[in-house]
Amino acid sequence: MTRLIFLGPPGAGKGTQAQVLANLLQIPHISTGDILRDNVTRQTDLGQKAQSYMDQGELVPDQLILDMIQARLSQEDASSGWILDGFPRNVAQAVFLDELLTKIGLSYDRVISLEVPDEVLVERLLKRLRKDDTEAVIRHRLAVYHEQTAPLISFYRVRQQLTSVDGNQSMEAVTNALQAAVQP
Ligand code: AMP
Repeated sequence: MTRLIFLGPPGAGKGTQAQVLANLLQIPHISTGDILRDNVTRQTDLGQKAQSYMDQGELVPDQLILDMIQARLSQEDASSGWILDGFPRNVAQAVFLDELLTKIGLSYDRVISLEVPDEVLVERLLKRLRKDDTEAVIRHRLAVYHEQTAPLISFYRVRQQLTSVDGNQSMEAVTNALQAAVQP
């Protein structure tokens, strides 16, 4: 049983690596970005509320995310473990996650921080520009990451729950480093 939290800036390869590791460990890869995009595509109530924030590279309001993650973690497949990708995204979400897990008698094993320098991120993100992305939105997403999400690195480091992995290497090298980091 493995429960992991993946932290990392946009463009770090977090989603791809989380999926590879989830397949290897046979646990669900829970990406809040993927769940939100699916809701936007289906134009659900949540999708309609989240869309404008996502288009601007802003964080979707916490309450929407917290309801969504609570529902996802209570689904049956989540009892086998999980990798959280894209959540928590700020300190309030991290505190909520701790409270939620305490309530259901669970904890996580490790927080993995995938680290890539900003200039490499911008270059990567510009290459994979989605049609709804502009350079300004990309730069804004990075600024939001530094302002709101990066503080989680020290939040988890002081609790000795953090392992940093160098994300600025080949995909295979990153996967190997991650596998080594999550060995029990
Ligand atoms: P991602 O695929 O993780 O880069 O997420 C895409 C977008 O979804 C982000 O830019 C946010 O607008 C939104 N989002 C994803 N996860 C969260 C979260 N935990 N809290 C707030 N917004 C989120």
